[in-house]
This record gives sequence, C-alpha cells and structure tokens, in this order.
Amino acid sequence: MTVPCVRVRREDGEATRQRLEAEGLLSETHDIAVDGEWLYVPVATTDEVPTDLAVVAHDAPVRETQTMPRDILGFEPTYERLGDVIILDEDDPERARAIADAVMESDIRAATVVNKLSKIKGKERVRDWSVLAGDGTETVHREYGAEFLLDIATVYFSPRLATERHRVVEQVEPAENAFDMFAGVGPYAIPMAMQGADVVATDINEAAIEYLRENARRNGVEDRVEAVAGDVREAIPDYADWADRLVMNLPHSADAFVDTAVALASTDAVIHFYDIQHEDDPYSPGEAAIREAAEPEYEVTVETRHEVRTYAPHEVNVVLDVRLTRR
Ligand code: SAM
Repeated sequence: MTVPCVRVRREDGEATRQRLEAEGLLSETHDIAVDGEWLYVPVATTDEVPTDLAVVAHDAPVRETQTMPRDILGFEPTYERLGDVIILDEDDPERARAIADAVMESDIRAATVVNKLSKIKGKERVRDWSVLAGDGTETVHREYGAEFLLDIATVYFSPRLATERHRVVEQVEPAENAFDMFAGVGPYAIPMAMQGADVVATDINEAAIEYLRENARRNGVEDRVEAVAGDVREAIPDYADWADRLVMNLPHSADAFVDTAVALASTDAVIHFYDIQHEDDPYSPGEAAIREAAEPEYEVTVETRHEVRTYAPHEVNVVLDVRLTRR
C-alpha cells in the first residue's frame, strides 16, 4: 500500500529524517523505504511538510512494532472511522468496552470511540451513541479534497456515500444553479460549489446548517453557498424555477418531496433522487413518483439507474438521475 513519503537522495536521508522528526512529521506506522538512489521517508501528514521537500505516494513497509487493536484483543474487531472518531456497532456492551479500550491502547489514530445505541431516526436522521472513550463527538472528515466539521451526536453523516457523492459532483458544470434539498453538513453542497456552481442548501436541522456554513468557509466557497435552515418546502417562493440540478438525499421519504423538486426545477434540470426499495424492483417507485409530479409540464428522461449500496437484506439504496425538460 502506498503512503505519503518525502523523497530524498540517500546522502540527504539522515538530515531529512531528523528535520522531519523535529517537526513531529514522521509517520509512526511505516518505515523508510529504499529504492535505488532514493529514500522514501513516510510522513504522518502532508500539510506541514516544508515546501522544499518533495512529497510522493510510495510503498513503505508497515512498522512491525505497531500495535493494532487485534493484537490486544486476540480477534479482529469491526469498526468504521469518521475523522478521528472510531464507530462500533456492537450489541454486547462488554465486547464494545473491550474493543474501545483496545483501540485507545493501540497505535491507530483515535480521539473518541462510540458505539451505535439506536437506528438513525426522526426527521433529522440522527442516531443515539454511547461514548466509550474520549469525550468529543465532533470531528473533521476529509473527502475528495474537501473537509467537513461535524458532530455525529447532532447531525447525520455517512462516510460510506463518498464515492456516490463524487459521482454526482463530477457532473456539475461551473455557473449552474444547484439545490441540495436535504443538505446535512454539506457533503454534496460544498463540493458542488467547489466545482463552480451557485448552491442553495436547505436542512431542517439547524445544527447541520451551522456546520454547513462553517464548512463552506473552511473550503473557501462561502460566497457561492446559501444555507437555509428549515423545511425545504418553505424555499419554493424564493427559488421557484431556479435549480438546474437538485439533490434529494432523503431516501426513505424523498417521494413526498418530488412536487417540491419540480417546483424548484428550471426549464432543463437534473434530479438526483435517492431511494431505498426492495431489490426486486428498486427503481420503478421513484420513477413513477417523479413522472406523476412532473408530467406533462416536463418531459421526463431517466438518465441513470444506479445501485449505491445494499441497505438491509433484500433492500437496496439506489439513485435515479432524472432529467426534466420543460415542454
Ligand atoms: N445530504 C446529506 C448527506 O449526504 O450527508 C444529509 C442526508 S440525511 C439522509 C437527510 C437530511 O435531510 C437530514 O440532515 C435531515 O435533517 C434533513 N431533512 C429532513 N427533512 C427535511 C425537510 N423537510 N426539509 C429539509 N431538510 C430535511
């Protein structure tokens, strides 16, 4: 596996290693690799490496002394990472406690360990957590060159959707009007603005909108993002016929908002419509709901039918990219 390394000529190796060590930049998990004339010195972060040093991705041996949670536990625990928060999904509190202790004792980067206490619930799609180690549930997540500050205790966020979000963001053209109807902390809205779109983002969760504004600032796009706290339906008077692109990421109940999407759509608009349906026929319900709301005013063309992930046994999370062209 490649890791970020500073590449130096052999003769400069020790001086460079010492310099990086003094700055606290040496990787704790990988050792120096040698390749012909060159040494590759693994670094923990690339942000603060002095600009006269070249940073490249290169294979480097994993340090054998690194202690992983499995070395302490005697089994491989399952966990997800969001920034420096480690997320467990354990039913047995004693097992969860043992894993949390092992994570904190190990060499992996972790400020907090949490266990899922409930399903995602309510309008705001937030779950309850038990904090097993550390004391903060706020963290910074990085995705495709953007960073997002968020608190998992007060807002929805799933790192598992990163690839899907990127698929959508890559379709965005500079200067288009993009409307993120269920925006959360901005993982669609902010990258769309970074692509050059003018973005309106709504969310009923005020905490999410506060983070979205902060994330727009962090990523340098506050001038192109209008964040509005409240029910998206209330945005219709201000943004009717405005949106060239609409993101509808509220998979369990997006069909209740297709009328709103159509009211917000411009003369030629694309809707990214997320749904959760039975695997036997996951696309028809969404397509039918959109046709019912948009026809005959618009011609409706389904451009993409795409499975995002398995959601539950026999249930899939899917997306439809649907173009609405006013007749
Ligand atoms: N798009 C974000 C993401 O990918 O992380 C968040 C998606 S989350 C599944 C759905 C979001 O919709 C939640 O943040 C919730 O607060 C918001 N929401 C639910 N009902 C809403 C409504 N009527 N108007 C605006 N936002 C709403």
